[in-house]
Amino acid sequence: MAQISSIISQLRQIVGSENVLDSNEARIAYSYDATAMKPRLPLAAVRPDSAEQIAQIVTLANEESFPLIPRGSGTGLSGGALPSENSVVLLTNHWNRILEIDQENLTALVQPGVVTANLHQEVEKFGFLYPPDPGSSSICTIGGNVAENSGGLRGLKYGVTKNYVLGLEVVLPTGEVLHTGGKSVKDVAGYNLKDVLIGSEGTLGIFTKILLKLIPKPETHKTMVAFYSSMDDAAKTVSAIIAAKITPAMLEFLDNTTIRCVEDYAHLGLPVDAEAMLLIEVDGRKPVVEEDAILVGEICKRHNANAMKVAESEQESVRLKVARRSAFTSLARVKPTTIMEDVGVPRALLPKLIERINEIGKKNGVQIGNFGHAGDGNLHPNYLTNERDAAEFARAEKTVFEVEEAAIDLGGTITGEHGVGLYKKRLLEKMVGSPSIRMMQTLKQMMDPNNILNPGKVFDLKPKCEGALPRDREKIKKFEDVAWI
Ligand SMILES: Cc1cc2nc3c(=O)[nH]c(=O)nc-3n(C[C@H](O)[C@H](O)[C@H](O)COP(=O)(O)OP(=O)(O)OC[C@H]3O[C@@H](n4cnc5c(N)ncnc54)[C@H](O)[C@@H]3O)c2cc1C
Repeated sequence: MAQISSIISQLRQIVGSENVLDSNEARIAYSYDATAMKPRLPLAAVRPDSAEQIAQIVTLANEESFPLIPRGSGTGLSGGALPSENSVVLLTNHWNRILEIDQENLTALVQPGVVTANLHQEVEKFGFLYPPDPGSSSICTIGGNVAENSGGLRGLKYGVTKNYVLGLEVVLPTGEVLHTGGKSVKDVAGYNLKDVLIGSEGTLGIFTKILLKLIPKPETHKTMVAFYSSMDDAAKTVSAIIAAKITPAMLEFLDNTTIRCVEDYAHLGLPVDAEAMLLIEVDGRKPVVEEDAILVGEICKRHNANAMKVAESEQESVRLKVARRSAFTSLARVKPTTIMEDVGVPRALLPKLIERINEIGKKNGVQIGNFGHAGDGNLHPNYLTNERDAAEFARAEKTVFEVEEAAIDLGGTITGEHGVGLYKKRLLEKMVGSPSIRMMQTLKQMMDPNNILNPGKVFDLKPKCEGALPRDREKIKKFEDVAWI
């Protein structure tokens, strides 16, 4: 039976010694992601540089029974990249080349580690837009985006990552390399495996190449912000804009706690007594944008916006968006721990959800800052807490649970874009029902018979199992044993 040292030396033979990171420092660096969850130490992290190397690592994992955890930039907010015990973290963020921009077919072929904002910038040089725009775009990777089916600020008009994935090269948990999709705009040959793999949270395959759809960059855009003394008025504005058959590229929302924190951090001159702020951007052809912007302004005023600002230049547009883009950073300064949540409801029920969240927060004595994608009905309540204070943290976790239940009760979802991972799996069955969970488990068991790929994420397999566990291996040190040596 192989010992850890033997596994490490076999990994070194596959990827080279310099690409196996097994020092305590490296293991600690890959023991957590952006989720407020306890870190878990992996055995090592490896940096493969081809699909063939990944296939060899996957084969080794099956033979030696250790879990593999794919990882991009580790910005995930549901614990998807958190290691399991005795696992090896498979890094892809160094694998960051844009391989092709096809101007005739409007596609980009990329490696999984390309940072989303780098792709935005690169395709814009050719007059194209890659719309998915997570708040973390300056650091997260396309591989992580596909694995989580990430959304972002432009979701309302342009959709989410799955709407832009045309093809995938994937190393399956058995070590086979699968190609699915391609540049053909229409392709209905066989089952749609691509869409099964998108959003599979690193549990069904490791993406090694990704073919993405691009669209022509809109001719122009107009950005504006509106402030309200009532949440209800802001919510009614959102519904009225949609009812007026305008689909803004962005329709984002910040509550009073978030406005205050952003102002304290970024000094943008925001009115700190406002109960709600909307950030609205319309885009498209110039005459349409001008018309839509005027109409949106009128709708805001009709619904009692008591202050408005329309950007007169690109510089000002960027500045107005800073308030939304720095929302999480600003809230995260208030307390040692911030739990960023991600619930969604049908758009018209957003005010009801916010009301419920505030009631639950008050009952449990937890401070909450809300912001999110108002146009999508996708809200990010941020629980400001302290994980070193057990009682306070327990109250925050209770609040998370109750808010997720409230979203389900309103016919919504426990996650609009951050995924289930480890953090949200406890309520998945309640939300999707047991036939759906059984179908997912069957699919996982069929594709990954030894449960080596990101085990324990999204759902547990029965009997409950954290993945392939070492059979007769030396006991490895846990995080607590080595973390602070
Ligand atoms: C401040 C902040 C703002 C955010 N804003 C948004 C937002 O607006 N919208 C949104 O949707 N998300 C948002 N996120 C969440 C997060 O950034 C996204 O989920 C992102 O897609 C994760 O990318 P990553 O490269 O960091 O992936 P990681 O966190 O490293 O991994 C995420 C998951 O993807 C899997 N994975 C990674 N790479 C691969 C691969 N090559 N093959 C197979 N599986 C892989 C991992 O196993 C894991 O399950 C935000 C996060 C932060 C911290």
